[in-house]
Amino acid sequence: MTSSSRRHVIIIGGGASGVLLTYQLLHRPTSDLRVTLIEQRPDIGRGIAYHTGNPDHLLNVRASNMSALPDKPDHFWRWLSSRDAGAPLCLDPYCFVPRRIYGDYIASLLEQQTANPMDARRLSILQGTCVDINEGPACVSVTLDDGRSLVADTVVLATGHDTKANRPAHVDPWAPRSSALIDTDATVLIQGTGLTMVDYVLSLLRDGHLGPIVAMSRRGLLAKPHRHVDALQIDETDVPFGAGINNLLRWLRDLIDRNAAQGGDWRSVIDGLRPYTQRLWHELPRASKHRFLEHTRAWWDVHRHRMAPEVEARITQALDSGQLTLMAAKVASIEPNSTGARVTYRRRGHANPLEMQVNTLVDCTGIVKDPRATLNPAVRSLFDRGLARVDPLCIGIETDRNCAIIERDGTPSCRLFAVGPITRATFWEIVAIPDIRNQCAALAALLVNTAREY
Ligand SMILES: Cc1cc2nc3c(=O)[nH]c(=O)nc-3n(C[C@H](O)[C@H](O)[C@H](O)COP(=O)(O)OP(=O)(O)OC[C@H]3O[C@@H](n4cnc5c(N)ncnc54)[C@H](O)[C@@H]3O)c2cc1C
Repeated sequence: MTSSSRRHVIIIGGGASGVLLTYQLLHRPTSDLRVTLIEQRPDIGRGIAYHTGNPDHLLNVRASNMSALPDKPDHFWRWLSSRDAGAPLCLDPYCFVPRRIYGDYIASLLEQQTANPMDARRLSILQGTCVDINEGPACVSVTLDDGRSLVADTVVLATGHDTKANRPAHVDPWAPRSSALIDTDATVLIQGTGLTMVDYVLSLLRDGHLGPIVAMSRRGLLAKPHRHVDALQIDETDVPFGAGINNLLRWLRDLIDRNAAQGGDWRSVIDGLRPYTQRLWHELPRASKHRFLEHTRAWWDVHRHRMAPEVEARITQALDSGQLTLMAAKVASIEPNSTGARVTYRRRGHANPLEMQVNTLVDCTGIVKDPRATLNPAVRSLFDRGLARVDPLCIGIETDRNCAIIERDGTPSCRLFAVGPITRATFWEIVAIPDIRNQCAALAALLVNTAREY
């Protein structure tokens, strides 16, 4: 079969999700698909999480659970061990390695394809931004920002986290080494107290920052640290699928208490739920999903997405020394002035406004939450053409459980699919590698089998 007669899949986004899916599509035993991977960054496999050059930015999942391949659970650990020529990076698979090294691992998954001329015929990697996707009766066309146009049988969106436009008064936390440009004595106000804030504080400290750092969010919650504990084995028949949020939380607290009474740790229970979280989300009544997002999500996130112990140690040190302050408060206004900005804020539960003078503001409030506000031209084009719609909770694009994008009229597309965090409306827990790798393997199986039917 010539490469042009092979069925062709275009993947938009060469972060971890795009690479994992590409790998699966090329490696399934019966696959004869041709894949084009389009990425706007110069490197593939890094995306927003793994492009950092800061060695203090560690994975928040232990190495033993970061294999890219669901059928080879120790694949990352083996790669890591074989790579350590000199002093090993870490000695046991429960360690947390720098995220930039994980980016090397993800990129290495496609090295064999690009090096071998036979395999290279099945994979093209293009650098560029996809600005338009259009579905015709027999194919899908994709346009890049430089005017290039391609057609394929199937297009998969793997565009990942939708970052916000940077606010003019704020420093962009994602810009490489932006912390190095801040005066070491400056008073820094970070809006947001999640893991992006943690990353930014680590960057400031690494750059020798000495001035005060205030991190502020509505609840002022900080991610909990990891401990060396195993996931609890939870029997599927014990899980209250379909229950409302109150009953579900009661059941969870109960399980945590019973486990603690036997000397267990709450982390084991949270981790033991992992195999069931997608089904729990799917079967959670709509009103409960709303209540979860409004009231429980922040609490869930700090328990679920935890910090490596080494990261915790540095953050605790900064808190104990008084350099870092965490605050449950909301910014009411920001008035720029000659030395930075005068910030008016209200502490949680207090009506009186307070003021502080800061030199630098950093926006670590995360990603675009409402997909209708997306700045991504590829996603925007799907909405504008009626080829995608926002889910009823307004947290992602709507897909079915096979990752097919639902069109405006409610029909699941046969040619347009999505993977990774952009599918959170359907899967909820689809942010970390252990979930994304399963999703990519399942979608690849579906696409390869569909291709064989033509
Ligand atoms: C700071 C941070 C740390 C994390 N740490 C961990 C961790 O330790 N362990 C873990 O399991 N998970 C972690 N995650 C979760 C992370 O979401 C996943 O591991 C994974 O990186 C998601 O990959 P992705 O490819 O879906 O998204 P992204 O990483 O966002 O990649 C999407 C890619 O698509 C490209 N793209 C987007 N739009 C276009 C377009 N129109 N045209 C061309 N290219 C486009 C982008 O340039 C980007 O490279 C972390 C996330 C963040 C934000």
